[in-house]
Amino acid sequence: MMIHDTERTLQLREEMVAQQIEARGITDRRVLRAMRVVPRHVFVDESHRHEAYSDYPLPIGEGQTISQPFIVAEMTQALALDPEDKVLEIGTGSGYQTAVLAEIVQSVCTVERIESLYLRATQLLQSLGYRNILMRLSDGTLGWAEQGPFDAILVTAGAPHVPRSLLQQLKEGGRMVIPVGDRFSQELLKIVKTERGIHQTGLGGCRFVKLVGEHGWNR
Ligand code: SAH
Repeated sequence: MMIHDTERTLQLREEMVAQQIEARGITDRRVLRAMRVVPRHVFVDESHRHEAYSDYPLPIGEGQTISQPFIVAEMTQALALDPEDKVLEIGTGSGYQTAVLAEIVQSVCTVERIESLYLRATQLLQSLGYRNILMRLSDGTLGWAEQGPFDAILVTAGAPHVPRSLLQQLKEGGRMVIPVGDRFSQELLKIVKTERGIHQTGLGGCRFVKLVGEHGWNR
C-alpha cells in the first residue's frame, strides 16, 4: 500500500486522523490505525484528489459519494469490531470503507448495485493487495444469505426502514449500523441483535445517498 503514498499524502492523512477523527472523540485503536493506513486519495477521482483528505464527502461518479472521513470512522467504531469478525457492507461505492473494514477484520463481504462502481472498486481493492474481501454486484437490500450470518453489517446508503433480510442475516450478538429516514436526512442507527430481541440506539443525524432496491427506495 505504501507505493501509493508520498510524504505529502502521508502527512495529509496523519492530519486528517488527528484533527477530524481523534479530536472528535473516536478512540477505537483499530479504527484509528485503519484510517492511518488506507490511502484515501486513491479512492477519489483524479479531479478531486487534491481534497481527498478534506472534512467532507466527495463525488465518485454515478451520482454517488465517498463519505466524509469522520462518518466512516464513526460508523466503523459503532460496529465494535473484533479481528475475528465477518462483516457485510452494503454500498461498496469507491471501496474506501470496504478497505477500512478489511484492515480490521478477517473477512469482508461487500455488495454494490452499480456496475461501473463495482468494477472500479474490485480492481482497486485487488491492486491494493486485499485478499479478505468478497465483492458482489447485486441488490444489497436482500443481503448476502449464502455468506451469512454476519457479526456486523454496515449499510452506507440511506434506507426508508431497516431491511428485514439484513436483520435475519445478523448473528445473535451482531451489530448493524444503518442510516434510516427520508430521502433528505436520516438518523444513523446502531442495532444490536440479542436473544431477547432488537436493541436500537440513535447516533445522530446524517445525510446519505439513497439505498435503492427491493427493501429500499424504488429509485
Ligand atoms: N462506502 C462507500 C459509500 C458509497 S455511497 C464509499 O466508501 O465510497 C453508497 C453506495 O451504495 C453507492 O455506491 C450506491 O450505488 C450503493 N447502493 C445503493 N443502494 C444499494 C443497494 N440496494 N445495494 C447495493 N449497493 C447500493
